[in-house]
Amino acid sequence: MAISVFGHTNPDTDSVTASLALTALFKAQGKDAEAFMQIDEANLNPESKTVLKRFGLTAPKTLGAVAGKEVALVDFSDLGQGPEDLAKAEVVAIVDHHKLGDVTTNSPLLYRAEPVGCTGTILNKMFKEAGVTIPKDIAGGMLSAILSDTVNFKSPTCTEDDKVAVAELKGIAGVTDTDEIFMEMLKAKSAVAGIPAKDLLYRDYKDFDMNGKKVGVGQLELASLDQVATVRNDLEKAMAIAKAEGRHSVLLMLTDVVKEGTELVVLSDEPAVIEGAFSGKLKDGSMWIDGMMSRKKQTVPNLQKAFGC
Ligand code: MG
Ligand code: MG
Ligand code: MG
Repeated sequence: MAISVFGHTNPDTDSVTASLALTALFKAQGKDAEAFMQIDEANLNPESKTVLKRFGLTAPKTLGAVAGKEVALVDFSDLGQGPEDLAKAEVVAIVDHHKLGDVTTNSPLLYRAEPVGCTGTILNKMFKEAGVTIPKDIAGGMLSAILSDTVNFKSPTCTEDDKVAVAELKGIAGVTDTDEIFMEMLKAKSAVAGIPAKDLLYRDYKDFDMNGKKVGVGQLELASLDQVATVRNDLEKAMAIAKAEGRHSVLLMLTDVVKEGTELVVLSDEPAVIEGAFSGKLKDGSMWIDGMMSRKKQTVPNLQKAFGC
C-alpha cells in the first residue's frame, strides 16, 4: 500500500510542493508513495496554483480517509492540522520545520525536523544525502516554497541554509531571477478583487490551543495595506463569524511585505491579553506592529507566553 504524503490543512506552497518532493524521493528509493493535499485543487490558494502552473507540476490529489493507512506528514506535526482520522493512521515519516506537535506513533518512524525557514530546505538536504537528483519541475516548486515561507529571505525564520538551498535549486530548476518569481507569487496571493472575505480570512489560517482557549490566526501577505482597505469591514465580519464558532480570539495579520510590519486585527474575549502579548495598544480593533512578519516565530510564541502556555 502506498504511503500517503501530505501537508497541513489549508495547504500553502510549502505543504503542496513538499508532498510532491518527498513522494519523488520515496519513489526514487523504491518506496511506493503518493502525494496528496487536504483540499480540492479548485480551492487551492492562488499562489500555489501559480507555482504549479509555472513549473508544470500536477497538483497532489485530494486526501480522503487515512485511518489504517501509512502516512507521511510534511510541514506539520499537529493532529489539529491533519485530517480528522489522522490519529488512526500509521505515521511512518514526518519532515517539518515547525515546533514539535502532538502527533505520536506506536512504531519507529523517519522523523526529520530542523529550525530552518521551509520544509523545502530540509528536503533539498535529504535528496543530497540520498544521492538522488531532484526532478527539475519539483526543484522549481521547492525553491518557490522557500521564497514564500521566508518572504523572499526577509522573514526572521529565514536561515543561511534556506539561502544555500535556493542557490542550489536555482541551478536544477533553470531559474535565474528569484525576485521575479517572488513578485509573481506575491501578486497572486495578494489579489483580493472578487474574493469573498471568508475565503481571504481562511486562505492562510491556523487554529491554536492556548491553555484551553481556541485562538485562530490568519495572515494575508500584501504589497501594501491599501490592497485590503475596501474589504476591511467584510474581513472583520468574517472574523466575527469565526469567533462565534467557539473561539476565544480571532486574529488577522495584514502583513505589509514591503514595509516589513503587520497591522494586527484583533477580535477577542480578552483584548488586553493580546495587547500585552505584543506590547501594543488597539485602536478601532487593530494595531501596527513594526517588524512582525512571521506567525510562527513572532505572533504565536508571544501569544503562548501571554496565555500562560
Ligand atoms: Mg506551511
Ligand atoms: Mg513551511
Ligand atoms: Mg506559510
